[in-house]
Amino acid sequence: MTNLLLAKPLIEDTLPKLKDLCSQMSSPPKMRVILVGENQASVTYVKHKEKQCEKIGALFDLVKLPLDISRDDFLQEIEKLNSDNSIHGGFVQLPLPKHLSDIDTTELIAPEKDVDGFGVESFIGLIKNNYERGFIPCTPKGIMTLFETENIDLTGKKATVIGRSLIVGKPMALLLQNAGATVTMCHSRTRNLKEHTLSADIIISAVGKTKFLNADYFQKDQSQVLIDVGMNRDEENKLCGDIDFESVKDNVKAITPVPGGVGPMTVLSLMENLVLAKQRQEGK
Ligand code: NAP
Repeated sequence: MTNLLLAKPLIEDTLPKLKDLCSQMSSPPKMRVILVGENQASVTYVKHKEKQCEKIGALFDLVKLPLDISRDDFLQEIEKLNSDNSIHGGFVQLPLPKHLSDIDTTELIAPEKDVDGFGVESFIGLIKNNYERGFIPCTPKGIMTLFETENIDLTGKKATVIGRSLIVGKPMALLLQNAGATVTMCHSRTRNLKEHTLSADIIISAVGKTKFLNADYFQKDQSQVLIDVGMNRDEENKLCGDIDFESVKDNVKAITPVPGGVGPMTVLSLMENLVLAKQRQEGK
């Protein structure tokens, strides 16, 4: 029987532990989120993060900036976040509006507060396989937590990652390599994608296209693990992933559904990173 890799039980198990850690601190950890404009999806993501902060007893501070904010004013807000000792973790909710989109967001947040794990320092940690200073980016971290909890051993496995973004594909590939997998990275220029999905033990799709991968891309003998990072809308405007779930679900060993799989794990990782940031700043 196919194993559904669900975030909910794991979250229900982990949040009380994080809450416990927060209650033992000298003061609760505090997260600041910078949101430019009112992009509906971004507002929804931010609300979800706020809820999770409440659940672990962390403080949440949303700075809403107007869509037409000047570059200087935006950078000043970042500076405030970085220099305020009462803020332990922070991030800019992406995407930024067009006039700010050339700003290198990997250089914005102070490394010790980079709970999203998008900063250069965090990336160096992935390359070195040493996470003492930076933070593991939330989506790949959440996927690794799922593997660990579900006892999915990565050593010697062949993993195919589709997508090479800085926030998902690249860090995911590095984490898998660090865990002993043999990794193939695919992208829009990859020839014969099927060859790479059919021959893998584990496939992680972070493309962002509705039903991009159907049953033809996978083995039918329940041998493969599928991780669907995609967050797309189907023809009925329902949230869905990159993988045509219904057509593959009975053929695979395990699969993350969308919604209910990788998305909530990403937010859980953010909470874990916030607690870690506060622990580090307290010298623990
Ligand atoms: P992105 O920056 O747009 O990257 C998409 C990647 O897909 C690119 O590397 C692109 O290749 C590749 N691609 C596009 N068409 C392809 C094709 N025909 N064959 C193979 N590869 C192809 O996206 P992202 O930020 O990584 O996000 C990807 C998806 O994950 C989106 O749906 C996003 O909403 C979702 N997401 C979910 C979470 C979560 O928590 N669940 C978190 C982050 C993102 P090139 O590099 O060659 O263009």
